[in-house]
Amino acid sequence: MIKKILLLLLIPFLGISQNINEIFSERGEVYFSFEYNNKNQLNKISDIISVDHKTNSEIAYAYANKKEFSDFLNIGIDYTIIPKKIPSYNNTNKNNWNYYPTYQEYVDMMQAFADSFPSICKIHHLGTLNSGREILTVQISNNVGQKENEPSFLYTSSMHGDELAGYILSLRLIDYILNGYGNNQKLTDLVNNIDIWINPLANPDGAYYGGNQDVWSAIRYNANWVDLNRNYPDPEDGLHPDGNPYQTETNIFLGLADSINFSISANMHGGAEVANYPWDTWSNLTADDNWWQYVSQEYADSCQANSGNGYFNYLNDGITNGWDWYEVDGGRQDYMNYFRYCREFTLELSDNKTPNPNDLPMLWDANYPSLINYMEQSLYGIRGIITDSITGQPLKAKVEINGHDTDSSHVFSNLPIGNYHRHIYQGNYNFTFSKTGYYSKTINATILNNDIVLEDVQLVPFGTTEIIEHNQNEKSPTTYDILGRKSNNKIQISKEGKTLIIE
Ligand SMILES: [Zn+2]
Repeated sequence: MIKKILLLLLIPFLGISQNINEIFSERGEVYFSFEYNNKNQLNKISDIISVDHKTNSEIAYAYANKKEFSDFLNIGIDYTIIPKKIPSYNNTNKNNWNYYPTYQEYVDMMQAFADSFPSICKIHHLGTLNSGREILTVQISNNVGQKENEPSFLYTSSMHGDELAGYILSLRLIDYILNGYGNNQKLTDLVNNIDIWINPLANPDGAYYGGNQDVWSAIRYNANWVDLNRNYPDPEDGLHPDGNPYQTETNIFLGLADSINFSISANMHGGAEVANYPWDTWSNLTADDNWWQYVSQEYADSCQANSGNGYFNYLNDGITNGWDWYEVDGGRQDYMNYFRYCREFTLELSDNKTPNPNDLPMLWDANYPSLINYMEQSLYGIRGIITDSITGQPLKAKVEINGHDTDSSHVFSNLPIGNYHRHIYQGNYNFTFSKTGYYSKTINATILNNDIVLEDVQLVPFGTTEIIEHNQNEKSPTTYDILGRKSNNKIQISKEGKTLIIE
């Protein structure tokens, strides 16, 4: 009797584990759909597996590796496995951006960009994976590689290895910008005024899982079966929200984001057609929610205007708050916004994750004006250089908007230039500039959308005295310190009509 019960108990478990081994015999990830009851339940499930998207009819689509899937099975929800289709398109004409390059063609193309346009383009080999494949980026700017008073901007694509529209659009964007420099005024202005970084392929092991010759066996995860877009430090869930160590790909990006102070970036994905703005991890709205809605809608509107038949109009006319759509913990978008003070959103570029290559030119036509507009946003808002009022040395200082900033929405100026870039929806704001050892300074400015306010700021170090008023003819004028108290100091520095003295 006891034996029978034990047997009965064991059978379902044996059944499941065999099933799992079978499911994962071909590849280490599975794609499936399931019905959920409410958003709360879905958020809990998304802690276990990697929700890819959800529909309005309470059906979610998700990926899982073996461990994640076995955790999911323990919840006891019905699911349907979606078999991986390996398409094979015939694209004999490889001239018109209507094909996916082989891995080697991709590497050669990146090198050729730098070789053909050495004065405005550099290739950076950010790191090599165990497979030997590399994470590559190009940097495009006049005086490329020199630090200048410019915002740094980043496009990166396909950290989900099978979401490949952005891979080709990024390559084509590089080609378009480089060839447009000196011919197209808008592109020339962008190259002259922005430090542009473009990484077309953030997960080469995923994209070329089936071998370097094509992308038709691409997977979402990396070679360790980890979802790279759940592998970042999270504002709410801490350092390792997915329980995995940082993957090589993640460490490479953490290093890049640490060394380049990107002010705006976008992360290209696929599987839907919508611009997804922060936050993903919690229901809080960002301090700049109206700015996010504005630039996201600008992106979507331009895509719609440059395409036909309902492209890029998913959810709220092509835009959505991330959490409102579905929760993501450990995503790169939230990492960049919260920890790097960068404005990053997620572009879902095509319903088909790996579009028919013949559709790539149409996707380009729909997206490139939006991609250019979004880059241009990095020139808008308020910007300038922050220096020490006495020495003129550039400073890394905090720029905070009184009564507005929250959840890390403030920014810092960057060394060695001291430049800051604060993008914000139009309005009148008080900006406070501060640094330890200096008197804070607050200025009032009115910002307009798609326009720039230039405001260089000198911060006065503690202990400095300043003449508030004096008569030029007076031999030894009365001096006052910064707080207006009389002091006995002598004038030592006179700068641009404003007299400063040091104790
Ligand atoms: Zn994705």
